[in-house]
Amino acid sequence: MYDRLKEDLASFDEILDQARAMAGNYLASLDERPAAANLPPSLPTCPALPEQGEGAQAALRRFEENYSALLSGSPGPRYFGFVTGGGTPASVAADWLVSVYDQNAQKNGDTCASAVELQALDMLKQLLGWPSSWTGVCVTGATMANYVGMALARQWVGHQFGVDVATNGLHGLPRTPVFSASAHSSTLKALSMAGMGRNAIQAMPQLRGREACDVAALEQALRERGDQPSIVVASAGTVNTVDFDDIAAIAELKQRYPFWLHVDAAFGGVAAASPGRRGLMAGIEAADSVTVDAHKWLNVPYDCAVAFTSHLPLQIEVFKNHSDYLPAPEPTPDNFLHLAPENSRRFRALPLWMGLLAYGREGYAEVVERNCAAARHLGALIAGDGRFKLVAPVRLNVVCFAPVGADAAAVALLQKALHRDGSAYVTPSVLHGEPMLRVAICNWRTTTEDMDRTFEALQRLLSC
Ligand SMILES: *Cc1c(COP(=O)(O)O)cnc(C)c1O
Repeated sequence: MYDRLKEDLASFDEILDQARAMAGNYLASLDERPAAANLPPSLPTCPALPEQGEGAQAALRRFEENYSALLSGSPGPRYFGFVTGGGTPASVAADWLVSVYDQNAQKNGDTCASAVELQALDMLKQLLGWPSSWTGVCVTGATMANYVGMALARQWVGHQFGVDVATNGLHGLPRTPVFSASAHSSTLKALSMAGMGRNAIQAMPQLRGREACDVAALEQALRERGDQPSIVVASAGTVNTVDFDDIAAIAELKQRYPFWLHVDAAFGGVAAASPGRRGLMAGIEAADSVTVDAHKWLNVPYDCAVAFTSHLPLQIEVFKNHSDYLPAPEPTPDNFLHLAPENSRRFRALPLWMGLLAYGREGYAEVVERNCAAARHLGALIAGDGRFKLVAPVRLNVVCFAPVGADAAAVALLQKALHRDGSAYVTPSVLHGEPMLRVAICNWRTTTEDMDRTFEALQRLLSC
């Protein structure tokens, strides 16, 4: 054995203790460190690949010294950029163990990992009130879950023409439109990966002043398709304003028109953890495929999302992976080798399983409600200061606002000033042509005091 490996094997415990100390330092800093890193113009350069390794402890120290101050505070309470969750204590602890256990999460008969994944998926369906008959699979993120959804939709469309696309490809099939009023950019990426092309999306009109689909216009588009199959992507929580398509009304159209219904509920779906908010997703049980992220509002560390479907056999057709040394696909919901885009798979279900057990229904409902209350609180502060305006009503856990009379450059300037200040981190966006800032609140740590601190910083930075 190479010397350094032998030494590191002998001091494995000390190495993990050192990592534990680094983790403790980082966690302790979260409340006070800048919400996002302010990167210098050039980052510390990496030495050339050493001939002789320096060993784990020296490499850990090198990272700590050179890079720990340059890490984002994104698991902290005032990182409101994009849609970003943190990691609860239970899910972080589980994630550490995932690396130690290093299981290949398959049903090979040599590990319980796939059984634990199945339990995590079952608990998640219970948490959100989704049909127990759905099957799911943990993938790396909502982009991948949307990809699974589009690949299943493609397979279903092929069957409508008597073609097994997974075996024979799309050759010769007519183009199939994907109707959506507010598809997330990752759905376009998924369509690209699935060979259907980004241009397959046909944008549906939105309701006036909303991001939700005009269902009457969708019905018209479906009617024009006659008996040709289509694909509909509904949003259960748009990134900008957390608007929801009327899934029940869209699902009702399935009685008259042939289409695959995919629901992107990447973060909005988690609102259903609070039973009073389940009405936002009424009708979701009619979906053919559904995306939900674990690494956003469920506060599991990256990377974990779930792709659910009510069409297990189609999923096996698309993702089966049979070879001389791998078992043939059985139509069971825990044979993940035949369900996921990935073959070798991280045991990423464990942090989800651990979080769901550790905090239960009450815990997740409390986070959802506390985050929504924080959004309402900030919304009220903004509405109460004549120098700011809300650009959209606060529907759930996102606040969209801008300084009054600010153009895109002024909005960008405020965003940069807040980033530099470090009190909070928000990201810019555009809503119906209007530049704005988005505050997306998904972190289990965030309180109303964090919103007060954020608003104080915004007021202070606007006046200088
Ligand atoms: C974040 C997000 C995605 C993409 O998710 P990743 O986990 O980043 O791959 C897709 N759809 C919606 C609505 C999202 O918010």
